[in-house]
Amino acid sequence: MPPETTEQSQEYAYKAEMKQLLHLIVHSLYTHPEVFLRELISNASDALNKARFFELTGDGATDPSVEPRITITPDAEAKTLTIEDTGIGMTHDDLVARIGTVASSGTLDFIEQQRQSGKPLDANLIGQFGVGFYSAFMVADEIVVETRHAAPGSAAYRWRSRGEGTYTIEPAERATRGATITLHLKPDAEEFAQEYRLKQIVRKYSNFVDFPIYIGGEQVNTVKALWQKSRAEVTDEERQAFYTFLTGDPAEPLGHLHLSLEGRVNFRALLFVPATAPPGLFREDFRRNLHLYANNVFIQDDADELLPEYLRFVRGVVDSEDLPLNVSREVTQASPAMARMRTALTGRVLDLLEEWARADAEKYTAFFEQYGALFKLGLGADFTNRERLLELLRFPSSRTPEGAYTSLAAYAAAMPADQPDIYYVLADHREAAERLPALEYFKQRNLEVLYLLDPVDAFILPYLGTYQDKTLKSIEQADLKLEEPAQEALPEAQRTALLARFKAVLGDAVADVTASPRLVQSAATLVVPGGGLDPHLERMMKAFGQEAPVSKKVLEVNLGHPLMQQLAARLDAPEAPVDDVIRQVHEGAQLLDGSLAQPAAYVERMTDLLVRLTRA
Ligand code: ADP
Repeated sequence: MPPETTEQSQEYAYKAEMKQLLHLIVHSLYTHPEVFLRELISNASDALNKARFFELTGDGATDPSVEPRITITPDAEAKTLTIEDTGIGMTHDDLVARIGTVASSGTLDFIEQQRQSGKPLDANLIGQFGVGFYSAFMVADEIVVETRHAAPGSAAYRWRSRGEGTYTIEPAERATRGATITLHLKPDAEEFAQEYRLKQIVRKYSNFVDFPIYIGGEQVNTVKALWQKSRAEVTDEERQAFYTFLTGDPAEPLGHLHLSLEGRVNFRALLFVPATAPPGLFREDFRRNLHLYANNVFIQDDADELLPEYLRFVRGVVDSEDLPLNVSREVTQASPAMARMRTALTGRVLDLLEEWARADAEKYTAFFEQYGALFKLGLGADFTNRERLLELLRFPSSRTPEGAYTSLAAYAAAMPADQPDIYYVLADHREAAERLPALEYFKQRNLEVLYLLDPVDAFILPYLGTYQDKTLKSIEQADLKLEEPAQEALPEAQRTALLARFKAVLGDAVADVTASPRLVQSAATLVVPGGGLDPHLERMMKAFGQEAPVSKKVLEVNLGHPLMQQLAARLDAPEAPVDDVIRQVHEGAQLLDGSLAQPAAYVERMTDLLVRLTRA
């Protein structure tokens, strides 16, 4: 955009999308418009953090004589509000690239959608989308930014916009680094020119900002970092307020850890487990909200090296004296102290979870329902803690009531002495698991079967392996060591002839046909030969368009079932449609396990059989 120049002032046009976004911000009705102040203070605090970081890393770019602070000055007569900081400031390029251009299309869509719902918009949501600065247009009809970057020799600039189509940038006078944001308040926003109102807002939203915030010469916020205090010094109210400040979540967290560790690595931490999973937790680009400080100097707000992925729901602050301060944050992050902290923190978080699992089952269930799907993935990633993770797993089972869970330990403790394996079944939901013919044997003998109903269960299965020397076995696997039915349901000769006939008719379509030890009510079922892929996993792979190794299945028939008894008795009766019935039994079992390829042929044959059945 070739800017229009009048003397030294240049005018720039906002990009189309930015214009739309501004229009929405300026003309929509918001609840909580006061959060604009939180956004501007948060920007000021970021700028101060950057200035402090560069000072300490010996960049030489800053003026140590400048006191880090945020000053808020209302002017009721002029109807203005000024927020000033002594932070890093902005260059001309920053003003164009960072202040002048922001909106991502996601933000725009989101706000537009909200607006179309007809309800007033919650301004709280704006800040989460990287348009914090522009939220000030909810209350201002003009914004002026005067700033000078901290680098030696930087010039000062004045940026100005009415939030419509354009903004201007011109040279300005300013002795020190930092930024001064002046809002010309809209007529209906004059409350924000009142000192008492501003103090109220700062105490509510920005009490824990790391730098002093002054209003009318008085420091309004508590600056002492809460995690630097001892546990006994921090009240529940303070901790809750800090949590809300950090996460924006007004609810009480499920629990917290306040740590002060000394030894191979020294650090303090104040960590929280939110009561409900933060939005986007399962998304690839989830930002963690785990803040890292090096000796009270802010390093980054999503320190994803501090805890493994499967614990990424933990939020809070970690502060260490042992981290090298370096201009490159990557160097800080790659230091050996980081790795030690990660190990120690992982251990402490697992301690906390174990404590809940042991002493507060209700809390642990609440935790597992929120985070279980993520947490379980640890099994495939954190082999050091495998034993601990195994103990922390929870599954519903054939014995747990709806909504309740069991652990591997509880399962093993309740196993009859002669039960050789731990039984499980993979299914989409409880009902599907309970309908499986393969479950009949276990139900009848009251043997517990774990229900693996979570989609991620299929992925952790390879890592489950064994528990207390018992192998985890699918109830749909052919090589299960099951007790044979006590009494032979058919005489030997009939049994052999029947199975032979099945094999002759089905040929290559099955790996084998055997007498089933596991069926009680059903006539037949398909099971996987030993070492084969779990049928549920096979279905999932197919659903994801993956080539699943097709393992031929074993057809197990229930010799005690009237259908098998009658078939055996009439194998050679010319009028009995034995071969069609055999095909029907096989395809019926395929239908149930989701592998029936040609339902049309199945239905056609069924219709033929019905015709025979209803013939006069
Ligand atoms: P976000 O803070 O989410 O990045 P904003 O729209 O609030 O989005 O701010 C955009 C950018 O403008 C910031 O990332 C920062 O680079 C710059 N900025 C805003 N306020 C200040 C300030 N007071 N001092 C220095 N830079 C600032």
